[in-house]
Amino acid sequence: MNEFLENGKIWFRGELINWPDAKIHVMSHVLHYGSAVFEGFRCYKTKKGSAIFRLKDHIRRLFDSAKIYRMTIPFPPAVIEQACIDVVKVNNLEEAYLRPIVFRGYGSLGVYPKNNPIEVAVAAVCWGKYLGEEAIKVGVDVRVSSWTRMRPNTHPALSKSSSNYMNSQLINLEARADGYVEGIALDANGYVSEGSGENIFLVRDEVIYTPPLASSILHGITRDSVIKLAREMSYKVEETFIPRELLYIADEVFFTGSAAEVSPIKSIDRIPIGSGRRGPITEKIQKRFFGILAGEIEDKYKWLTFI
Ligand code: PMP
Repeated sequence: MNEFLENGKIWFRGELINWPDAKIHVMSHVLHYGSAVFEGFRCYKTKKGSAIFRLKDHIRRLFDSAKIYRMTIPFPPAVIEQACIDVVKVNNLEEAYLRPIVFRGYGSLGVYPKNNPIEVAVAAVCWGKYLGEEAIKVGVDVRVSSWTRMRPNTHPALSKSSSNYMNSQLINLEARADGYVEGIALDANGYVSEGSGENIFLVRDEVIYTPPLASSILHGITRDSVIKLAREMSYKVEETFIPRELLYIADEVFFTGSAAEVSPIKSIDRIPIGSGRRGPITEKIQKRFFGILAGEIEDKYKWLTFI
């Protein structure tokens, strides 16, 4: 059993169709040149019903990602937001991972992309814990990748484009081949950037640090949520360049992401981080974050969109 809903419906070209019918031609521009931007986020089962976390912010980032590549999405944001709600509803899901994608379709072969239609699809899948069930409590073992993140002015990191995930695949494949769950990439200057699909935070002496946007990171929406929650909890949070070795001597390190949520890191390059298990500040942030997602803590930022 995989995460796909093969008997379910998918939103494609403006309507809900059967999953197996959502197909494209092998000569589509996206397949040859990676010309796609996408989003990934979750719908949670809360005490008051199912709700999508930060829907508007994710759709805004989708439009921003497309704008960077001069792609005009042929639907307004409200239509894509509604499509996200509809795929959850029509598939009778209480919880889901949502994947809108915008890509250049079938038209002509040249690299110049404007002779290809812009296509949009929104899928819902059933995805459990991204880094494994135990990861959230126990933490994961990771390595610093031998691959760096894209240097500035190459592949723009602030666009969540499919082509960036070729770099992510190199990072993740290398880590898995060596028996780690995930890799941490450095930026082109050797400072800490992010995981293949997660932002990273570290804690030392009760101060929380995370790399700035200039370290070739995706401006994660979970990262933004954690920064807001941590500040609300009176922690000092600094967005600053992080030298690699600060990771090893941190008290706590954790990943954030829509898929990975808030996942502690227990060792890096086989060096135990802090006590070698989830740290207390990570746990407090998790409690707050998961409390909002469960509808148990007041959603004062209006992050939840109910289905
Ligand atoms: N960095 C990368 C490379 C990612 O793929 C993701 C997941 N989208 C993140 C960071 C975390 O971003 P978010 O919290 O918005 O999911």
